[in-house]
Amino acid sequence: MSTPERPFASYHLWSLIAPAEGQQRWHCQMRRGFIKARQHEPQVKALLKNVSPSQSVGLLAQRGVYEFHYNPRLLKVANGVEKVAELLKLSESSDEVRQRVIQILKNYYSSPMLADKRILLLTRGDEGFPKAIAIKKENYSFRLYATMDCVFIERDTSLESISNLRTLHILDFKTGKSPFDQRQALVYLLAARYLYPEYEAVASFYNLESDKKSELIAISNHELDNVENELADIAQKHQEDMSRFHEESQIFSMIFPPNPGYHCRFCPFKSICKFSSVTVARL
Ligand code: SF4
Repeated sequence: MSTPERPFASYHLWSLIAPAEGQQRWHCQMRRGFIKARQHEPQVKALLKNVSPSQSVGLLAQRGVYEFHYNPRLLKVANGVEKVAELLKLSESSDEVRQRVIQILKNYYSSPMLADKRILLLTRGDEGFPKAIAIKKENYSFRLYATMDCVFIERDTSLESISNLRTLHILDFKTGKSPFDQRQALVYLLAARYLYPEYEAVASFYNLESDKKSELIAISNHELDNVENELADIAQKHQEDMSRFHEESQIFSMIFPPNPGYHCRFCPFKSICKFSSVTVARL
């Protein structure tokens, strides 16, 4: 029997366990089962490796922003967009992905929102799991994973706004129709309390494709305690489900109940899920 994993939490796990507001009808626990409990099975592994055009756009857009700031000269030269497109090897992408990413690069080049910021962290998007934050309290302990796209401090030299220098801004990039899920910002804010304790933190979302920005999100220390408690519960529930699965994998569908429906059409596991409401050729 495999050793049960130690409890952990992340925004991804939170979103797999509990639906976002208004998404209850489409939420399926079995997807969590495939992603977290059966991810090493060859069929599941192969499906998880598939990257949709929308996911490719998201990854390439993030990498594009990274390249512009890794070499800021690219924001100044006339052919900066073409240079970044070369670095991203966009010529190897599908027409749809290439066109969308080129447009994103053009938008960013003409209005680079991070140009006047003091950037503390900007990820390429392909770094994999971040280092875990070990959270230990009297009633619980778990590892927190928070993959932040960008962390910066407003660079403002005026004396009146000196307090801005203590405000840390965590920015999450979106593309396409990805919704802004406030819970993701809450996880970042909690992580910032451990990683950057000397700063007050705010978080926000920015859609690189539509140029849509969210409000700044900030919460009190007491509210952060509540978020931490909720994540501790999520970590514990998931660990219990995983332990049960390791002991009795034949009751997979009881531990991770399916919720079939129209949304199965968009589920990456529809070809192997026997509860899927979509008729597809089985792998
Ligand atoms: S195919 Fe449908 S029932 Fe099966 S895991 Fe996906 S959403 Fe759930």
